[in-house]
Amino acid sequence: MIVPLDTPLFHLGFNLQAEVNENMSDPIRREIAEELHALSFEEDIACDYHDRPKTISKDEVLIEAIRLIDHPQLRLEEWPDGWILDAARCSDCGVETIEEPTKGFEEALVILPVNRSNNVVSVDTPEPSDVSVLAYSPATEGCHPMTISQMLMDAADPDDVGIARWIRIKGALDGAPDPLRAHLEQLIKQSNEVPTSL
Ligand SMILES: [Zn+2]
Repeated sequence: MIVPLDTPLFHLGFNLQAEVNENMSDPIRREIAEELHALSFEEDIACDYHDRPKTISKDEVLIEAIRLIDHPQLRLEEWPDGWILDAARCSDCGVETIEEPTKGFEEALVILPVNRSNNVVSVDTPEPSDVSVLAYSPATEGCHPMTISQMLMDAADPDDVGIARWIRIKGALDGAPDPLRAHLEQLIKQSNEVPTSL
């Protein structure tokens, strides 16, 4: 699920042991809340880390939100300037920290409350207090993004700017069919930096 945000947003909600302290998460919550207004998913939200489609039916959804700051390989007609909802995780695929941060991307693990009515899933105008930030990684932290190939980009959604993030690659490797897995492994080998967990 990639949601380009003309009108984005998010939220935090879990009482997990957030590694983000209040001082750090407040600006993120405010930014996300300000950017997300009545975002509609139109249909159910599916987990982006399941190899088989898995709908997320909870009223709070764990989302990886990103802000693209820099990427040496991406050529975009329009550079997104706000937070983007990059990936959703079901409870089976849940994480509480960003184990493999990627340089050039601000990354936040947030919990976003969603409303369901008339078969439409949406996020109403959130207040900063509605957004729960479990983890945050600034763009200066982590490994350089994975090297991307034309083949990978051709296979991806054109708006999928988060595809080279390491947390996504790690999740994709687990369920990737063989040809894709082999290609990803080759790209990982070609990358300047690789998280140790891969
Ligand atoms: Zn899942």
